[in-house]
Amino acid sequence: MIQFLEDKPRDECGIFGIYGPGLDVASLTYYGLYALQHRGQESAGIAVSDGQTIQLQKNMGLVAEVFNEDSLAKLRGHIAIGHVRYSTSGASSLINAQPLSFHYLRGMVALAHNGNLTNADELRYSLGATGSVFQSTSDTEVIVNLIARYGQNTIEEALMKCMIDIKGAYSVVVMAENKLIGMRDPLGIRPLCLGKLGESYVIASESCALDTVGALFEREVEPGEIVIIDEQGVHSIKTMTAAHKALCIFELVYLARPDSVINGEAVTIARREMGRQLAKECQVEADVVIPVPDSGTAAAVGYAEASGIPFKEGLMKNRYIGRTFIQPSQRMRDIAIRLKLNPIRQVLNGQKVALVDDSIVRGTTSKKLVQMLREAGVKEVHMLISSPPILYSCFYGIDTSARSELIAAQNELEEIRKYIGADSLHYLSLDGLFAAVKGTAKDFCTACFNGSYPVEVPEQIDLTGFERRKC
Ligand code: SF4
Repeated sequence: MIQFLEDKPRDECGIFGIYGPGLDVASLTYYGLYALQHRGQESAGIAVSDGQTIQLQKNMGLVAEVFNEDSLAKLRGHIAIGHVRYSTSGASSLINAQPLSFHYLRGMVALAHNGNLTNADELRYSLGATGSVFQSTSDTEVIVNLIARYGQNTIEEALMKCMIDIKGAYSVVVMAENKLIGMRDPLGIRPLCLGKLGESYVIASESCALDTVGALFEREVEPGEIVIIDEQGVHSIKTMTAAHKALCIFELVYLARPDSVINGEAVTIARREMGRQLAKECQVEADVVIPVPDSGTAAAVGYAEASGIPFKEGLMKNRYIGRTFIQPSQRMRDIAIRLKLNPIRQVLNGQKVALVDDSIVRGTTSKKLVQMLREAGVKEVHMLISSPPILYSCFYGIDTSARSELIAAQNELEEIRKYIGADSLHYLSLDGLFAAVKGTAKDFCTACFNGSYPVEVPEQIDLTGFERRKC
C-alpha cells in the first residue's frame, strides 16, 4: 500500500500556542491545530502547562484521530502549545512528533518548531561531541539541546544565544517559566503571527488558526523577533535583523490557506493577482477558464477577470478523500486521481479550456488531468501555471522533491508540454509573481524558482548515522 500521492510541494509543520488563564487552552489548541491541518497530517501533539508541570499528548495521525474529549480534558493548565507535522517518507515516527518536552536546569520546557535548520548536522555533531544525547532525528532536538546548554541563563537569554548558533528557517513556540514564547528566524522564512483573544494571546503559523479560535489578528511576528507572553502581557525582543527578509514566496503561491493573512495581505487576494498577472503575460484562445481546485481557484478567477474569458468549475474535488491509501498499480492510480478530481463532461465537452493550476512538481498529476479533460470531450487544453517553474529543491522546511524529480529542472518547456499532453503551457514569470505579491527579491525567498538561497546550504553531511529529518 502506498499513500495517495499529491504532486505538490508539502509543508512540513504547523505550530500554535496560547497563553490563556481561565480558558480551556487544550481545546482551543485542538481547534487551532485543526485549522492548521493542511500544514501537516502525519502527527499531532499538544503540551499544556499549569506553571509547575507540563502534560503532553502526541501521536501519529490527524488532529481528530489523536485527540478526543477525554484526552483533552486531562490536559489542564493555562498555557498550551501544539504542533502538526508532515515528514518525508520513512521519517514518520512518534519519536519525531512534537511538541518536545524536557527538564533542564530551570524546570520544564516544551517546544514546537516549523522549518528546517541548515546547520543541524554540524550542531548535532558539536553538541554530541561535548556530551549531548539525542532521542530523535529532528532538527528541533538540536534547539532543545542548545536551550539546555544555556540553562544558566533565563529562557529569553538562552533563546537569544540559540539564535546566534542556529541557521536556516525556524518559527518556534516555547512554553517555559510560566511564559509562552514565539521566535522567528532573522529572515522570517516561515510565517508566524500573533493574535489576541480577550485578555489572552495566541501565536500561530497562520492567521486562519486565530480566526478559528475567535482571536483577533494583531500582527505578524517580525523576522528575528522573540515575543514573550506572561502575566505582564506581551514583550518583544528584537534580536538579529538581516539586511533583507526572505519570507517563503511559496506560502503565498500554494502552501498557506487562502483565508490567512501573510505579509500584510489575504493569501487569496495575492493568488487572484497572480492569475491577473498571468493574463497580462499570456493570452490564450479559450472558451472557458477552469481551475484545478482548490489551490488553482483564486488564480483562475484572476485570470478570467483579466482575460475576459468566462470562469467555470469543470473539475469537482472530492473533499472527503483524506488520507487514502491506494494500491500501486496503474489502474488504481488512475482511479485515485478520479477519486480526487472528477471532470464535469457537461461543462467541458467541445470546449477550448484554459486550465489554471498553482505549480507543477513532477508533472504526473498534470498529465493525468489533461488526459481526463480530453476524455471528457475537451477540444484544446492550455495549461497556465500561476508561478514560475520549480527548478531547485527547498532546504527550509518544504518538501519540493529531489531536484532529479522536478520536471522543470530536467526538461525544457516544450518537453514538459509534450509530457503532460497540453496544447500549450505557460508559467508566470518571477517578475510577474513579485508584482502579484507587491514585493521584490529583497522581501522573499524564491530559491526553488531561481536557486538564490537566502541562507547558505552546506553540503549535507551525515555525521551521526541519523538520516536527516525535517521539522
Ligand atoms: Fe519557500 Fe521555495 Fe524558499 Fe523553500 S526554496 S522556502 S519552498 S520559496
